[in-house]
Amino acid sequence: MTYQVLARKWRPRTFAELTGQAHVVTALTNALTRNRLHHAYLLTGTRGVGKTTIARILAKSLNCVTGVTATPCGVCAACTDIDAGRFVDLLELDAASNTGIDNMREILDNARYAPTVGRYKVYLIDEVHMLSKAAFNSMLKTLEEPPEHVKFVLATTDPQKIPVTVLSRCLQFNLKPLPPPAIEGRLAHILGEEGVAHDAPALALIARAAQGSLRDALSLLDQAIAFGAGEVRESVVRPMLGAVEREYVYRIADALVAHDGRALVDIADGLAERGIAFGSALDDLAGLFHRVAVAQVVPDGIESFDDADRVRGYATAFTADAVQLAYQICAQGRADLPLAPDEATGFTMTLLRLLAFEPAAAQGGARPSTGGAPKRDVADLPARSAPPQAPVANVTELRAPAPRELPPRSAEPPPAPQAAGAAAAFGLPNDPSQWPATVAALKLTGMAAQLAAQTEWVSLRGNVLTLTLPVSHKHLADKTYADKLKAALEAATSRKLLLAFEVGDATSGSLAARERKAREEAHAQGEQAFREEPFVRDLVARFDATVKSDTITPLRGDPPAS
Ligand SMILES: [Zn+2]
Repeated sequence: MTYQVLARKWRPRTFAELTGQAHVVTALTNALTRNRLHHAYLLTGTRGVGKTTIARILAKSLNCVTGVTATPCGVCAACTDIDAGRFVDLLELDAASNTGIDNMREILDNARYAPTVGRYKVYLIDEVHMLSKAAFNSMLKTLEEPPEHVKFVLATTDPQKIPVTVLSRCLQFNLKPLPPPAIEGRLAHILGEEGVAHDAPALALIARAAQGSLRDALSLLDQAIAFGAGEVRESVVRPMLGAVEREYVYRIADALVAHDGRALVDIADGLAERGIAFGSALDDLAGLFHRVAVAQVVPDGIESFDDADRVRGYATAFTADAVQLAYQICAQGRADLPLAPDEATGFTMTLLRLLAFEPAAAQGGARPSTGGAPKRDVADLPARSAPPQAPVANVTELRAPAPRELPPRSAEPPPAPQAAGAAAAFGLPNDPSQWPATVAALKLTGMAAQLAAQTEWVSLRGNVLTLTLPVSHKHLADKTYADKLKAALEAATSRKLLLAFEVGDATSGSLAARERKAREEAHAQGEQAFREEPFVRDLVARFDATVKSDTITPLRGDPPAS
């Protein structure tokens, strides 16, 4: 007997068996039981979420010999023929391979005739957005007034490409990607029925990798069974998916707790040698910090984690601030991987950034970057290739803004009143005098902060924000820093922006100029007064932190200046 792939064998045959899409099932069930059926349905959704499955169940519901029903019997000739794909009155057309008007004419001509054996002729047109314009036009009249015995089910992954004239004649249902727990549950059920041994972490990995598609999950499951000689185990699934063995993630966390830079670099090298995907390593690491954060806030909410014991340990080893920051560094590091000279370098830099930022927070300080400790550990790291200094980019390309996390909850002093006022100014008012306050509220660090502080507002037209930089500082318009400034502005304003830089004469419209002015005025009042000025203190503290954090580069093998 030949092996039947799981996706086909376990294709749901009734609405009750369908995973997810309850909103669609409810609507269709009501329509069927009250016999208030629309003549054309449009099912939209990404691949593998159940579009054709629903269409086939609907075809059975309409043609089952027991009558039009939401619960087709599954045993009559109509039901079994539809399940086997040989029912003459269910006409399936793949628009991806039949895009022309001739196919459509043939179908529509055929629609005039009564069903051969069933009650209704059901036309299932998959990937309907691929039809030519002429084919769509030829459909319109039939769609508007189809014969009584005809039902259309159109399916598409790309509803945007369907003419509005067609959309308006269909009842549209949007199928949603399935959440990982729903996929996991379905996989566990199927493996139970199949008598295949499995462990929960393996199913969780597959569910996550399937990205909402049950069909993809079942294909991966087929693969996992083949790889695992009839069992589904995490030890097989991880390498199959290019995922990192969990153990590495714990070793990284342990090295952070121990503040052991050497161990971090060794772990990164180990991963590189094994050809493990650095992107999924960072995903796993971010996942660990997420679980730790949950454990810190809801200690009894982690019983469902399969590594609850370890997570509990890290929840006490890291401060809440450190966990938030670490999560953000992992997420940002993941987003920046494509920009790194190579993935291994990007990954190692992310680990070292975790190290550079973590200790100060672990020592109880709110400011992550003022600790002197990182120096010792990173100074004797082996030299690695330096990240490239990208040429000055006048306009940075559109890129998804970096994921933003909630600000740290504890130990952070309340923001200075000036910063709070500036934050309220967000929304990018087209007013140059607001710009320094806007920059101050961005809480940028490192070179991106230096860049932002030197800029002056020129204009905001559409999404293009033009800034000037003084000639003396034009080297700051490096793409890396410009991208960070852009991401921070996008996160703060929730809008997509393009940054353009002009080189011009400095006036007094930059944060740096305002800071300088504040400094001079404060000097006039005496150094003591200057030091106690909260706004300046805030700036100095921030800029101090910045310089240090970015100077901690293991790349040249010499300790950063302190
Ligand atoms: Zn039946």
